[in-house]
Amino acid sequence: MKKKKYIVSFPRLGNYVYPIYNMLDRLVDHSMVDIMFPKSMSKNTIELGSNVSPDFVCLPFKYNMGNFIEVLENGANFLIQAGGGCRYGYYAEVQEQILRDLGYDFTYVSLLEPEGINVKKLYEKVRLLNLNLSFAKFAKEVILAIKAIELLDKVETYIRDNYMYEIKKGEFDKIHKDFIKNVSNISFIQDLIKLKKNVYKRLKLVKLLDKQSSKHIIKVGIIGELYTSMEPFSTFYLEKELASLGVKVKRYTTVTYLLFKKGKSIKKHIKYANKYIDYALGADGTESIAHTLELIEKGYDGIIHIKPFGCTPEINAIPILQKIAQENEIPIMYLTFDSQTSQTGIKTRLEAFYDMLVMKKNMKMETKCIEIGSKENRLNYDKQKYGFQN
Ligand code: SF4
Repeated sequence: MKKKKYIVSFPRLGNYVYPIYNMLDRLVDHSMVDIMFPKSMSKNTIELGSNVSPDFVCLPFKYNMGNFIEVLENGANFLIQAGGGCRYGYYAEVQEQILRDLGYDFTYVSLLEPEGINVKKLYEKVRLLNLNLSFAKFAKEVILAIKAIELLDKVETYIRDNYMYEIKKGEFDKIHKDFIKNVSNISFIQDLIKLKKNVYKRLKLVKLLDKQSSKHIIKVGIIGELYTSMEPFSTFYLEKELASLGVKVKRYTTVTYLLFKKGKSIKKHIKYANKYIDYALGADGTESIAHTLELIEKGYDGIIHIKPFGCTPEINAIPILQKIAQENEIPIMYLTFDSQTSQTGIKTRLEAFYDMLVMKKNMKMETKCIEIGSKENRLNYDKQKYGFQN
């Protein structure tokens, strides 16, 4: 069998790996290129990455390095990095140098330029993997992948928003699993339209609890740095942990948000949060402040701020968040993740935070009943709280 010139791989980031893999698979010339799906995240990934990374570097760097070493050891020889913004903008150069010093032989391509996305340069880079690739085909596949990512974000956001209200548990998980399988095999925009119709139809058929009568469900918003927000392994599946406790979770950061909304909304965020900030804090810091205020306005019970160890923009946001928390009496829990973070420690803190939110909510309801003073209200509340039967 003829040896392929390139075996291409890329770092993982949540479920985005599926549409990205599909896009690359459809762009390359298979007579000279194979695509290697990056290995699932594991303890080994972060150990490999940490062993070769500077100690002080941010956690996403270490995870990316772990991803790269795993695929290089498996035979990959063409690595793609798509980082940008903040220190992430310098990852590519440093990572390439470290991997070369370790003796690996590979081609390394960073998709972003220092100034951001440059479509012409991007096309030239992708052409290394398919000399006959026309610009039209390149544009079509990129648009298709972006549309697939948009749909992925919409579906996952819908599921996240409604997960706790699902009556027959497991229905959303099944739909999500099928959807991921299908979104990995999209060839044409028509396939995507069909998939969208089908998945929405199934989602709408899932029977939900009445939201008015589910006011006891604890609602928590997740804010903070983008990688830890979107790569579930890096936070030990924080959202799943919260869901298993019975918490409704809201998260803003998605790839669609970063690509299409973030840039446009910075000024709006600063204006909205002008009591606390006058200028952008860099990376996701501004959003952390504005989204906290929005979550308070929407009546969320608590907020979890997540960040990798040493993430400067989020460190800058913390004193402001503390002030907001104090002024608005909203509990905010701060979680920092690095290669030494213990999963058990995070789980314990989440459970304690949840218990505190439940107590606070019950006390609030109790006070409300006393304030209203109506005997009927009081009885209804007791029935709800203590499970009294009529
Ligand atoms: S946002 Fe934080 S984690 Fe991400 S590159 Fe910047 S400092 Fe590092």
